[in-house]
Amino acid sequence: IGQLFGPLLWFGNSFGQVVSALTNLEQVMELFDKESEVQDVEGAEELKFGVVEGMPSTGDVVFENVSFGYEKVLSSSEGQNCRSGQVRNISFRVPAGKMLALVGPSGAGKSTLVKLLLRLYDPDEGRILVSGRDVKYLKQNSLRHAMGLVAQETTLFNDTLEKNIRFGRPDASEAEVWSAICLASLEEFVRKQTHGLQTRVGDQGLRLSGGERQRVGIARAVLKDPAIMLLDEATSALSTLDERKIQKNLQQLCKGRTTIAVAHRLSTVMMADEILVINNGHVIEHGNHSELVSRKGLYAHMWRLQAGTAADENEDEDFSITPVN
Ligand code: ATP
Repeated sequence: IGQLFGPLLWFGNSFGQVVSALTNLEQVMELFDKESEVQDVEGAEELKFGVVEGMPSTGDVVFENVSFGYEKVLSSSEGQNCRSGQVRNISFRVPAGKMLALVGPSGAGKSTLVKLLLRLYDPDEGRILVSGRDVKYLKQNSLRHAMGLVAQETTLFNDTLEKNIRFGRPDASEAEVWSAICLASLEEFVRKQTHGLQTRVGDQGLRLSGGERQRVGIARAVLKDPAIMLLDEATSALSTLDERKIQKNLQQLCKGRTTIAVAHRLSTVMMADEILVINNGHVIEHGNHSELVSRKGLYAHMWRLQAGTAADENEDEDFSITPVN
Protein backbone atom coordinates (compact mmCIF):
# COMPACT_ATOMS: atom_id res chain seq x y z
CA ILE A 1 0.00 0.00 0.00
CA GLY A 2 3.02 2.13 -0.56
CA GLN A 3 1.06 4.49 -2.73
CA LEU A 4 -1.99 4.51 -0.50
CA PHE A 5 -0.91 7.83 0.78
CA GLY A 6 -0.26 9.36 -2.60
CA PRO A 7 -3.60 11.12 -2.65
CA LEU A 8 -2.69 12.86 0.57
CA LEU A 9 -0.25 15.08 -1.20
CA TRP A 10 -3.11 16.19 -3.31
CA PHE A 11 -5.34 16.52 -0.27
CA GLY A 12 -2.58 18.46 1.41
CA ASN A 13 -2.72 20.97 -1.35
CA SER A 14 -6.46 21.25 -1.23
CA PHE A 15 -6.29 21.79 2.53
CA GLY A 16 -3.65 24.40 2.00
CA GLN A 17 -1.18 22.42 4.07
CA VAL A 18 1.69 20.17 3.25
CA VAL A 19 0.75 16.66 4.17
CA SER A 20 3.44 14.27 3.19
CA ALA A 21 4.91 10.98 4.28
CA LEU A 22 1.84 10.04 6.28
CA THR A 23 1.90 6.32 6.55
CA ASN A 24 -0.60 5.69 9.26
CA LEU A 25 -4.10 4.70 8.46
CA GLU A 26 -5.54 6.46 11.46
CA GLN A 27 -3.95 9.70 10.35
CA VAL A 28 -5.30 9.17 6.89
CA MET A 29 -8.71 8.50 8.32
CA GLU A 30 -8.56 11.57 10.50
CA LEU A 31 -7.73 13.62 7.49
CA PHE A 32 -10.40 12.08 5.36
CA ASP A 33 -12.90 12.45 8.17
CA LYS A 34 -12.39 16.18 8.00
CA GLU A 35 -13.01 16.59 4.34
CA SER A 36 -13.02 14.20 1.44
CA GLU A 37 -13.86 14.29 -2.21
CA VAL A 38 -16.01 11.25 -1.54
CA GLN A 39 -18.85 12.51 0.63
CA ASP A 40 -21.29 10.58 2.79
CA VAL A 41 -24.65 10.28 1.09
CA GLU A 42 -27.64 11.75 2.87
CA GLY A 43 -28.86 9.29 5.49
CA ALA A 44 -25.62 7.25 5.31
CA GLU A 45 -25.66 4.32 7.73
CA GLU A 46 -23.24 3.45 10.51
CA LEU A 47 -21.30 0.25 9.87
CA LYS A 48 -22.16 -1.96 12.81
CA PHE A 49 -21.10 -5.47 13.71
CA GLY A 50 -22.93 -8.19 15.55
CA VAL A 51 -26.60 -8.70 14.86
CA VAL A 52 -28.04 -5.73 13.00
CA GLU A 53 -31.77 -5.68 12.32
CA GLY A 54 -31.93 -9.41 12.88
CA MET A 55 -29.16 -10.12 10.34
CA PRO A 56 -25.59 -11.11 11.28
CA SER A 57 -23.14 -8.35 10.35
CA THR A 58 -19.72 -9.88 10.42
CA GLY A 59 -17.17 -8.00 8.35
CA ASP A 60 -17.11 -9.99 5.14
CA VAL A 61 -15.84 -8.06 2.14
CA VAL A 62 -17.20 -8.42 -1.38
CA PHE A 63 -16.04 -6.79 -4.61
CA GLU A 64 -18.65 -7.14 -7.35
CA ASN A 65 -17.39 -6.43 -10.87
CA VAL A 66 -15.43 -3.42 -9.69
CA SER A 67 -13.75 -1.22 -12.27
CA PHE A 68 -11.92 1.98 -11.52
CA GLY A 69 -9.40 4.30 -13.12
CA TYR A 70 -7.70 7.40 -11.82
CA GLU A 71 -8.71 10.35 -13.86
CA LYS A 72 -6.13 12.43 -15.60
CA VAL A 73 -6.23 14.92 -18.39
CA LEU A 74 -4.29 13.97 -21.49
CA SER A 75 -1.86 16.59 -22.66
CA SER A 76 -3.10 15.87 -26.16
CA SER A 77 -4.49 18.69 -28.30
CA GLU A 78 -8.05 17.50 -27.50
CA GLY A 79 -7.28 17.68 -23.76
CA GLN A 80 -9.64 14.76 -23.25
CA ASN A 81 -10.09 13.02 -19.95
CA CYS A 82 -8.77 9.53 -19.88
CA ARG A 83 -8.47 6.87 -17.24
CA SER A 84 -5.14 5.68 -15.92
CA GLY A 85 -4.08 2.95 -13.50
CA GLN A 86 -7.22 0.98 -14.06
CA VAL A 87 -8.49 -2.04 -12.24
CA ARG A 88 -11.06 -3.86 -14.31
CA ASN A 89 -13.98 -6.06 -13.49
CA ILE A 90 -12.63 -7.29 -10.18
CA SER A 91 -14.80 -9.72 -8.23
CA PHE A 92 -13.95 -11.54 -5.04
CA ARG A 93 -15.35 -12.36 -1.64
CA VAL A 94 -13.50 -12.55 1.65
CA PRO A 95 -15.72 -14.35 4.13
CA ALA A 96 -15.69 -12.88 7.64
CA GLY A 97 -12.62 -14.02 9.52
CA LYS A 98 -10.75 -15.26 6.43
CA MET A 99 -7.58 -13.94 4.85
CA LEU A 100 -7.18 -12.76 1.29
CA ALA A 101 -3.78 -11.91 -0.16
CA LEU A 102 -3.21 -9.61 -3.11
CA VAL A 103 0.01 -10.29 -4.97
CA GLY A 104 1.39 -9.31 -8.34
CA PRO A 105 3.90 -7.02 -10.02
CA SER A 106 4.46 -3.43 -9.01
CA GLY A 107 1.77 -1.15 -10.42
CA ALA A 108 -0.66 -4.04 -10.94
CA GLY A 109 -3.43 -2.38 -8.92
CA LYS A 110 -3.18 -4.03 -5.48
CA SER A 111 -3.16 -0.79 -3.46
CA THR A 112 -5.89 0.64 -5.64
CA LEU A 113 -8.17 -2.16 -4.45
CA VAL A 114 -7.36 -1.31 -0.84
CA LYS A 115 -8.02 2.38 -1.50
CA LEU A 116 -11.38 1.47 -2.97
CA LEU A 117 -12.23 -0.63 0.07
CA LEU A 118 -11.38 2.34 2.28
CA ARG A 119 -13.58 4.40 -0.01
CA LEU A 120 -10.89 6.90 -0.79
CA TYR A 121 -12.45 6.64 -4.22
CA ASP A 122 -15.71 5.26 -5.55
CA PRO A 123 -15.62 2.59 -8.26
CA ASP A 124 -16.61 3.64 -11.78
CA GLU A 125 -18.55 0.41 -12.06
CA GLY A 126 -19.56 -2.35 -9.68
CA ARG A 127 -19.90 -2.20 -5.92
CA ILE A 128 -18.02 -3.00 -2.76
CA LEU A 129 -19.88 -4.52 0.16
CA VAL A 130 -18.77 -4.79 3.77
CA SER A 131 -21.05 -6.94 5.90
CA GLY A 132 -23.49 -6.91 3.01
CA ARG A 133 -23.66 -3.10 2.99
CA ASP A 134 -22.56 -1.09 -0.05
CA VAL A 135 -19.74 1.09 1.26
CA LYS A 136 -21.16 3.97 -0.78
CA TYR A 137 -24.06 4.19 1.67
CA LEU A 138 -22.02 3.83 4.84
CA LYS A 139 -20.65 6.60 6.99
CA GLN A 140 -17.01 6.81 5.96
CA ASN A 141 -16.06 7.40 9.53
CA SER A 142 -17.56 4.13 10.69
CA LEU A 143 -16.10 2.24 7.73
CA ARG A 144 -12.59 3.41 8.47
CA HIS A 145 -12.91 2.87 12.17
CA ALA A 146 -13.68 -0.77 11.44
CA MET A 147 -10.28 -1.16 9.77
CA GLY A 148 -6.76 -1.39 11.06
CA LEU A 149 -3.53 -1.26 9.10
CA VAL A 150 -0.10 -2.65 9.70
CA ALA A 151 2.07 -1.05 7.05
CA GLN A 152 5.68 -1.12 5.94
CA GLU A 153 6.24 2.19 7.65
CA THR A 154 4.80 3.14 11.01
CA THR A 155 4.51 6.81 11.81
CA LEU A 156 5.60 7.67 15.31
CA PHE A 157 4.49 10.85 17.02
CA ASN A 158 6.77 12.85 19.24
CA ASP A 159 5.25 11.44 22.36
CA THR A 160 5.62 8.52 24.75
CA LEU A 161 5.68 4.90 23.65
CA GLU A 162 2.41 4.42 25.49
CA LYS A 163 0.64 7.25 23.66
CA ASN A 164 1.98 5.94 20.39
CA ILE A 165 0.56 2.51 21.07
CA ARG A 166 -2.69 3.81 22.56
CA PHE A 167 -3.28 5.83 19.40
CA GLY A 168 -5.12 2.74 18.23
CA ARG A 169 -7.58 3.06 21.12
CA PRO A 170 -6.85 5.73 23.72
CA ASP A 171 -9.31 4.35 26.28
CA ALA A 172 -7.80 0.84 26.36
CA SER A 173 -7.01 -0.57 29.80
CA GLU A 174 -3.42 -1.07 30.95
CA ALA A 175 -3.87 -4.83 30.68
CA GLU A 176 -5.01 -4.47 27.07
CA VAL A 177 -2.01 -2.27 26.27
CA TRP A 178 0.37 -4.89 27.69
CA SER A 179 -1.38 -7.69 25.91
CA ALA A 180 -0.93 -5.80 22.62
CA ILE A 181 2.72 -5.18 23.46
CA CYS A 182 3.26 -8.89 24.06
CA LEU A 183 1.52 -9.92 20.86
CA ALA A 184 3.77 -7.51 18.95
CA SER A 185 6.87 -9.00 20.65
CA LEU A 186 7.69 -5.55 22.00
CA GLU A 187 7.74 -6.44 25.67
CA GLU A 188 11.48 -6.89 26.05
CA PHE A 189 12.13 -3.64 24.22
CA VAL A 190 9.75 -1.67 26.46
CA ARG A 191 11.14 -3.23 29.66
CA LYS A 192 14.70 -2.35 28.56
CA GLN A 193 13.89 1.36 28.45
CA THR A 194 14.65 3.28 31.65
CA HIS A 195 11.31 5.03 31.45
CA GLY A 196 9.44 2.02 30.11
CA LEU A 197 6.23 2.98 28.39
CA GLN A 198 6.82 6.61 29.29
CA THR A 199 9.92 6.76 27.08
CA ARG A 200 9.54 9.51 24.52
CA VAL A 201 9.97 8.44 20.92
CA GLY A 202 9.97 10.09 17.53
CA ASP A 203 12.20 12.83 16.14
CA GLN A 204 12.54 14.44 19.55
CA GLY A 205 13.05 11.23 21.50
CA LEU A 206 14.30 7.70 21.17
CA ARG A 207 14.91 6.72 17.57
CA LEU A 208 13.46 3.29 16.86
CA SER A 209 14.78 0.87 14.26
CA GLY A 210 12.54 -0.08 11.35
CA GLY A 211 11.65 -3.36 13.05
CA GLU A 212 10.85 -1.69 16.38
CA ARG A 213 8.65 0.87 14.66
CA GLN A 214 6.84 -1.86 12.86
CA ARG A 215 6.23 -3.70 16.13
CA VAL A 216 4.77 -0.48 17.59
CA GLY A 217 2.50 -0.42 14.52
CA ILE A 218 1.45 -4.00 15.20
CA ALA A 219 0.75 -3.24 18.88
CA ARG A 220 -1.30 -0.23 17.79
CA ALA A 221 -3.32 -2.35 15.38
CA VAL A 222 -3.85 -5.08 17.99
CA LEU A 223 -5.16 -2.51 20.44
CA LYS A 224 -7.50 -0.99 17.88
CA ASP A 225 -9.09 -4.43 17.59
CA PRO A 226 -10.59 -3.82 14.14
CA ALA A 227 -13.02 -6.19 12.42
CA ILE A 228 -11.04 -5.83 9.21
CA MET A 229 -7.26 -5.90 9.17
CA LEU A 230 -5.18 -4.59 6.29
CA LEU A 231 -1.59 -5.77 6.12
CA ASP A 232 0.93 -4.14 3.87
CA GLU A 233 4.13 -6.16 3.91
CA ALA A 234 3.56 -6.05 7.61
CA THR A 235 6.84 -7.69 8.53
CA SER A 236 9.12 -6.24 5.86
CA ALA A 237 11.31 -4.26 8.25
CA LEU A 238 12.06 -7.19 10.52
CA SER A 239 15.01 -9.55 10.65
CA THR A 240 14.28 -13.12 9.52
CA LEU A 241 14.17 -14.33 13.11
CA ASP A 242 11.85 -11.54 14.25
CA GLU A 243 9.78 -11.96 11.11
CA ARG A 244 9.10 -15.61 11.94
CA LYS A 245 8.13 -14.68 15.47
CA ILE A 246 5.89 -11.81 14.40
CA GLN A 247 4.42 -13.77 11.54
CA LYS A 248 3.06 -16.17 14.14
CA ASN A 249 1.75 -13.26 16.19
CA LEU A 250 0.18 -11.71 13.12
CA GLN A 251 -1.62 -14.95 12.41
CA GLN A 252 -2.91 -14.77 15.95
CA LEU A 253 -3.86 -11.12 15.43
CA CYS A 254 -5.72 -11.88 12.21
CA LYS A 255 -7.49 -14.92 13.59
CA GLY A 256 -11.21 -14.32 13.45
CA ARG A 257 -10.78 -11.04 11.57
CA THR A 258 -11.31 -10.44 7.91
CA THR A 259 -7.80 -9.78 6.65
CA ILE A 260 -6.55 -8.38 3.37
CA ALA A 261 -2.81 -8.56 2.89
CA VAL A 262 -0.84 -6.89 0.12
CA ALA A 263 2.45 -8.66 -0.32
CA HIS A 264 5.51 -8.84 -2.49
CA ARG A 265 7.15 -11.52 -0.39
CA LEU A 266 5.02 -14.56 -1.05
CA SER A 267 6.36 -16.34 2.03
CA THR A 268 4.31 -13.91 4.14
CA VAL A 269 0.99 -14.86 2.57
CA MET A 270 1.37 -18.59 2.00
CA MET A 271 -1.20 -19.28 4.69
CA ALA A 272 -3.86 -17.01 3.15
CA ASP A 273 -7.20 -18.70 2.52
CA GLU A 274 -7.26 -17.21 -0.96
CA ILE A 275 -4.63 -15.45 -3.04
CA LEU A 276 -5.48 -13.18 -5.95
CA VAL A 277 -2.76 -12.59 -8.48
CA ILE A 278 -3.25 -9.16 -9.99
CA ASN A 279 -1.63 -8.10 -13.24
CA ASN A 280 -2.44 -4.98 -15.25
CA GLY A 281 -5.54 -4.34 -13.17
CA HIS A 282 -6.98 -7.81 -13.72
CA VAL A 283 -7.23 -10.88 -11.55
CA ILE A 284 -5.28 -13.37 -13.59
CA GLU A 285 -5.17 -16.25 -11.14
CA HIS A 286 -6.67 -17.17 -7.82
CA GLY A 287 -6.48 -20.02 -5.39
CA ASN A 288 -4.53 -21.00 -2.31
CA HIS A 289 -0.75 -21.23 -2.25
CA SER A 290 -0.41 -24.90 -3.17
CA GLU A 291 -3.00 -24.64 -5.94
CA LEU A 292 -1.20 -21.67 -7.41
CA VAL A 293 2.28 -23.19 -7.19
CA SER A 294 1.12 -26.28 -9.00
CA ARG A 295 -0.03 -24.15 -11.94
CA LYS A 296 2.45 -22.82 -14.45
CA GLY A 297 1.27 -19.24 -14.06
CA LEU A 298 2.62 -15.96 -12.79
CA TYR A 299 2.35 -17.00 -9.14
CA ALA A 300 4.36 -20.17 -9.68
CA HIS A 301 6.92 -18.11 -11.57
CA MET A 302 7.14 -15.52 -8.80
CA TRP A 303 7.40 -18.29 -6.24
CA ARG A 304 10.26 -19.97 -8.08
CA LEU A 305 12.03 -16.64 -8.46
CA GLN A 306 11.68 -15.89 -4.78
CA ALA A 307 12.84 -19.33 -3.86
CA GLY A 308 15.87 -18.61 -6.01
CA THR A 309 15.32 -21.56 -8.30
CA ALA A 310 14.24 -19.79 -11.43
CA ALA A 311 17.65 -19.55 -13.01
CA ASP A 312 16.95 -22.35 -15.41
CA GLU A 313 13.50 -21.17 -16.34
CA ASN A 314 12.71 -19.96 -19.80
CA GLU A 315 12.76 -16.18 -19.50
CA ASP A 316 10.42 -15.82 -22.46
CA GLU A 317 7.52 -17.49 -20.68
CA ASP A 318 4.29 -15.70 -21.51
CA PHE A 319 2.27 -14.64 -18.50
CA SER A 320 -0.47 -12.72 -20.28
CA ILE A 321 -3.03 -15.09 -18.82
CA THR A 322 -6.73 -14.64 -19.51
CA PRO A 323 -8.50 -12.79 -16.69
CA VAL A 324 -10.68 -14.99 -14.52
CA ASN A 325 -13.60 -12.59 -14.40
P1 ATP B 1 3.07 -1.63 -5.81
O1 ATP B 1 3.22 -3.11 -5.58
O2 ATP B 1 4.24 -1.05 -6.50
O3 ATP B 1 2.66 -0.87 -4.58
P2 ATP B 1 0.34 -1.79 -6.81
O4 ATP B 1 0.04 -3.10 -7.42
O5 ATP B 1 -0.13 -1.57 -5.43
O6 ATP B 1 1.88 -1.47 -6.91
P3 ATP B 1 -1.22 0.56 -7.49
O7 ATP B 1 -0.58 1.45 -6.50
O8 ATP B 1 -2.59 0.10 -7.21
O9 ATP B 1 -0.29 -0.70 -7.80
O10 ATP B 1 -1.19 1.30 -8.88
C1 ATP B 1 -1.86 0.81 -10.02
C2 ATP B 1 -1.66 1.82 -11.12
O11 ATP B 1 -2.34 3.03 -10.78
C3 ATP B 1 -0.22 2.19 -11.36
O12 ATP B 1 -0.05 2.35 -12.75
C4 ATP B 1 -0.07 3.53 -10.66
O13 ATP B 1 0.89 4.33 -11.29
C5 ATP B 1 -1.45 4.12 -10.84
N1 ATP B 1 -1.80 5.03 -9.74
C6 ATP B 1 -1.73 4.77 -8.41
N2 ATP B 1 -2.16 5.83 -7.70
C7 ATP B 1 -2.52 6.79 -8.59
C8 ATP B 1 -3.04 8.11 -8.48
N3 ATP B 1 -3.30 8.66 -7.30
N4 ATP B 1 -3.28 8.79 -9.64
C9 ATP B 1 -3.03 8.25 -10.86
N5 ATP B 1 -2.55 6.98 -11.03
C10 ATP B 1 -2.28 6.27 -9.92
